[in-house]
Amino acid sequence: MADFETNKARAAEYMARWQGGPVPHRIGGEDVLSAETFEVISPTDLNPIATAAKGGAAEIDAAAKAAHEAFGEWSAMDGARRRTLLHRIADRIVARAEEIALTECMDTGQSLKFMSKAALRGAENFRFFADKAPTARDGQSLYGPGQINVTSRHPIGPVGVITPWNTPFMLSTWKIAPALAAGCTVVHKPAELSPLTARLLVEIAEEAGLPKGVWNYVNGMGEDAGAALTAHPLIKAVAFVGESKTGSMIMKQGADTLKRVHFELGGKNPVVVFADADLESAADAAAFMIYSLNGERCTSSSRLLVEESIHDEFCAMVAKKAEAIPVGHPLDPKTVVGPLIHPGHFDKVTSYFELAKEEGATIAAGGVPADQPCTVRPTLFTGARNDMRIAQEEIFGPVLTAIPFKDEDEALALANDVDYGLAGYVWTRDLTRAMRFTDKLEAGMVWVNSENLRHLPAPFGGVKASGIGRDGGDWSFDFYMETKNVAFMTADRAVPKLGG
Ligand code: NAD
Repeated sequence: MADFETNKARAAEYMARWQGGPVPHRIGGEDVLSAETFEVISPTDLNPIATAAKGGAAEIDAAAKAAHEAFGEWSAMDGARRRTLLHRIADRIVARAEEIALTECMDTGQSLKFMSKAALRGAENFRFFADKAPTARDGQSLYGPGQINVTSRHPIGPVGVITPWNTPFMLSTWKIAPALAAGCTVVHKPAELSPLTARLLVEIAEEAGLPKGVWNYVNGMGEDAGAALTAHPLIKAVAFVGESKTGSMIMKQGADTLKRVHFELGGKNPVVVFADADLESAADAAAFMIYSLNGERCTSSSRLLVEESIHDEFCAMVAKKAEAIPVGHPLDPKTVVGPLIHPGHFDKVTSYFELAKEEGATIAAGGVPADQPCTVRPTLFTGARNDMRIAQEEIFGPVLTAIPFKDEDEALALANDVDYGLAGYVWTRDLTRAMRFTDKLEAGMVWVNSENLRHLPAPFGGVKASGIGRDGGDWSFDFYMETKNVAFMTADRAVPKLGG
C-alpha cells in the first residue's frame, strides 16, 4: 500500500470528478438529473465531496419502466453469455480497484486497510455468481406415482435493491450480482450518505457491455425514492440491507403490491468465550469483529459473553488490544479505525458512553479523540448486565459490551436474550459443547473458533429481528427466481368424472 501522502494525492485526483456537477441517476443507460440535489459530505473533514441528484417517485417510475423494458431480452439471454458479461464486470472492477477503494474511504470514513480489498471482494462476488448463471434455471425432476414432476426456475422480474451506507460497494455487488445472474433487471437505490461507489459500479457494468436498462441507479432519500421503489407495481421483489425498523416500513410499503422481500437487518451478535478456549485467538477475533470496519458492521461481535473464571483476565486482554489499535485518517495506511459515517451517527454512538455510566457499567477502554472529527476509539464497556440498553441495542460503532456468565446454560440464555439473531461466535475446545451450544443458539450464522470467515456458497442471513431470507450460493436464486413445477403423466389413468 502506498504512503499517506501518495494516497491523499491519488484520492484528490479521483474525487475531482465529483466536482463537475450533481451525480446523475443512471436510468435506461442515460444520465438523468433531478430538480433537487443533496450534498454528500466526507466524514474525514466534514466537507462536501459531491452533490447528488435527489430522485423521488418520478425517477423511480422511469427506472422501474426501464428495468421492465429491459427484462424480456435480459432474462431470455443464454446463461453462458450472462456469465461472460458478469466476468467482464469483475475484470473492470479489478482494473479500477484503486479508484473504488479511495472513493469508498473518502465517502464512508472506512480505512484503506480494509477498503483496499473491497473492490476485490466485489469482483469475487461477480465471478462467483457469473459462474452460476448458466445453471440458474436448473431444477429437479421428482417422480410420483404415474407422473414425473419437472421443476424449473424463472427470474422473478425487475427487482429493487436498497443498500445501507456502511460498506456500500461490497454490499451492492453482493445483492446485484446474483440478481443479474438469475436474469433479473435491477433498480438500485444506494444510501444517501455514501452513494458514490455505487455510481462507479453501474458505469463499470455498462462499460463492460451490460445492455441499457438492465441496471438502473437512482439516488434519493429513503422516505421518498426508497419508499416509491418498494411500492412500485413493476418491481417484483425488494432486496434490502439496513436497519430492522426500516425493514418493517418496507414490508408495509410493499404490502399492496405483494412484494417479495429479502431483509438483511441489524444485529447484536454475541461472542461467547468459554474458559477452555484458545484465549489469545479469541481475544484477537473479538477485537477484529468489533473494531474492524469502524464497528459499522452487521456481523460485528458487539456482545462479549465471557465465562466468569476468565472474565477479568480476558477483558484485560481485549482492552489492551483495543488501546493498541491505530485510529486516524482512513487514507493513512496505518489506520484501522477511521471516522464514523456522519456527525449524526457519531452523536448516536457516543450517546452510549453517557448511557453506559448511567446504567452502571465501566468504560474500560476507548473514548473520543480530540483531534479527529466523527471518530470513536475502540471502546470496551465492562461490568454490564444483559438487560442494559448497551447490551441490547445495536450501537453500530467500535463499542463492545462485556458480560460474565457462570455456566453454559447461562451463556445460552444471555446469548439468546436479545431481539436480534444475525451471527454468533463461539470459542471452546470442547467439540460436544460447541455442537450442543450452536444447535440452540438463535442466529442465522455461527462461527466456531473463528471470526467471520465468509464462504460464498454458504447461506448468509439472520433470524428474529435480523432478517428474512438467505443469500449466498443457490439461496440467492431462491429469492430472485420463481420455481415452476410441471407434472407429466407417465401412465394412462382414469380421470375422476363429476356427474354423468
Ligand atoms: P437504514 O435502514 O437507515 O437505510 C438503509 C437504506 O434504506 C438506505 O438506502 C435508506 O435510504 C433506505 N431507506 C430508509 N428508509 C426507507 C424507506 N422507508 N423505504 C425504503 N428505503 C428506505 O440503514 P443504514 O443506517 O443505512 O445502515 C445501517 C444498518 O444496516 C444497521 O442496522 C446494520 O446492521 C444494517 N446492515 C445489515 C447487514 C446484514 O447483512 N444483515 C449488512 C450491513 C448493514
